[in-house]
Order: sequence, then structure tokens, then C-alpha cells
Amino acid sequence: MPRTFAVIGDPIDHSLSPHMHSAAFRHLGMNDCSYIAYRIPRGELAHGIESLLKIGIAGFNVTIPHKVEVMRHLSKTDETCSMVGAANTVEVAGDGSLKGYNTDVEGFADPLRRRSISLKGASVLLLGAGGAARAVIAALARLGDTSDITIANRTPKAASEMADLAGLAGLPNARAAPLSEADQIANGCNVIINATSIGLPASAEKTIPISPESINRDDVVYDTVYMPMKTDLIQKGKERGATCIMGYEMLLGQAARAFEIWHGVGAPRDAMKRALLGVGA
Ligand code: NAP
Repeated sequence: MPRTFAVIGDPIDHSLSPHMHSAAFRHLGMNDCSYIAYRIPRGELAHGIESLLKIGIAGFNVTIPHKVEVMRHLSKTDETCSMVGAANTVEVAGDGSLKGYNTDVEGFADPLRRRSISLKGASVLLLGAGGAARAVIAALARLGDTSDITIANRTPKAASEMADLAGLAGLPNARAAPLSEADQIANGCNVIINATSIGLPASAEKTIPISPESINRDDVVYDTVYMPMKTDLIQKGKERGATCIMGYEMLLGQAARAFEIWHGVGAPRDAMKRALLGVGA
């Protein structure tokens, strides 16, 4: 029986998810499966989900602006959703009920695990205090063993709230700081993570407020932004010889985990990666 999957959000035209999942179907000969991009404007989520259920959707990914609001439509969530307060993957049961997951958490952790990077004793600087930052905090709490974390954000109140959340998630020594202090703080950190929208094509701001001199060779530099792939932060990290993790790796990790939830088989990561890089490079 044909099974259809989707990614919902707005805008959605440039989503790379259909390319990754379609490549996985082709690679595994899953000819009965298809994956579409479906635009649901803000404020129309309930109606949009209803339409998807009418066509018998088997599962869907969720992106901006619906990751938080979709939680109200789920009858079950796993612990990643509860930690992050948002879902990006939904599984539809036979009776039409919805179960949510947040695979951004595993998506973030995946490239660190693959490189066998230990965070034992790491001093972390996290830029940003939005949805992606929440997923980063949940992932760091799972990976464990960090020494301290500073959350620097343009809006100080959001940084303070995120520091409280990090403490509740079990991260030791969490504190907030203004974005203007990020460069100085980066100097004493060994893991620098960007979870702001700085660098995105739609963002007026393209430059991360961290100078190359504040990045050391032994640092891990991780940008969650994947468009463009080589962001300002990644360029600075490479220039300094740091270990650099690009946002597309997180994107691939979250897609692979969603695939495994829906299909119960290992995701063909290489095929998905080739599709992602072919389109997004
Ligand atoms: P969000 O909830 O809207 O949060 C945006 C964050 O960026 C906030 O902390 C915001 O600060 C900050 N920000 C926005 N514009 C800024 C500017 N001009 N200067 C300084 N700070 C600015 O968005 P999100 O969902 O967290 O997404 C954030 C980024 O993560 C996006 O670039 C997205 O592409 C990326 N992401 C990547 C993946 C992946 O798989 N690789 C997954 C999810 C998200 P304020 O609090 O001051 O507004």
C-alpha cells in the first residue's frame, strides 16, 4: 500500500527534506513511499493537519513556524519533545492519532558521536536562545560531562531563561551573557556553537560576533546554520584549524533519525548525504 510522508512549514519550497527522504526510498527500493513538501501558513496548522490525515499521511516533519504549536495536536510525545518543548517529527498511528519526536536533539549529537568527540570537562559557549538552542541543550544534557555553559543571546531575557532551562536539564554551571560579550567568552571556551539565525540568507546579519583570534586549534566549532554550508563561523574555525561541524550534518542526523522512527530500518545515510550535498552545495 502506498505511504506518503511530508514536511510542513512556511516557507517550505527550499526544504531539503524531500531530496533526502526520496533518495533514501530510491536507495532501498521503497517504491511505495513518497515524500512531499506541504506549505501550511502560520495560524492554519489545525486545518493543514486535518488535510494531511484525509489523504492518509503516514508521518510528517515539522519546520518553522509550527514546531512548538504542533505539540497541541499530539496525543503522545517522547522525552525529547518534553525537554525541548517542540516536535519536528510526527508519526501517524492507524487510528489517526499523532506521536511526536524531536530528532533535532539526536541530529545535533550525531556528528559529535561520529567523530568520537568527548565533552568531558568542556567549557561551552552557545550563541542563541531559540528552538535550535533548546535542542542543543537537550543534546548536551544527554551527552553529559560538560563543565560549564554560557548562553549568549541578542535578547538578554531569552538568554537567562535558556540558562535556567539548561540548569533544569542537568547541565552544570549554566549562565547567561549578552551577545556583545561572546568574543571575550569564546576565548576561554573549547566548544563554540551557533544556534542563532545569523548567516542565514534571510538574516540581515551575516557575521558572528566572534573574532578568529578567539578560536583555538583544539576547539570544536559547530554551526547549526546549513544554508550557506560554509558560514562565517565555519570559515573562521577552519582558518584557525579547529574541528568544524557544519549545520548540514545536524540536518542529515535529524532526517536519518526520523527515517528510522517511521520505517523501523537503518537510514541509508550516504545516499541521503549525497542528495543533500548535491542540492545544497
Ligand atoms: P528561533 O527560535 O527563531 O531563534 C532564533 C535565534 O537567533 C534567537 O536566539 C535570536 O535572538 C537569534 N537571532 C536572530 N537574528 C539575529 C541577529 N540578527 N543577531 C543576533 N541574533 C539573532 O530559530 P531556531 O529555530 O532556533 O533556528 C535558529 C537557527 O538554527 C536557524 O539558523 C536554523 O537554520 C538552525 N537550525 C538548524 C537545524 C539543522 O538541522 N541544522 C535545525 C534547527 C534549526 P533573539 O532571542 O534576540 O531574537
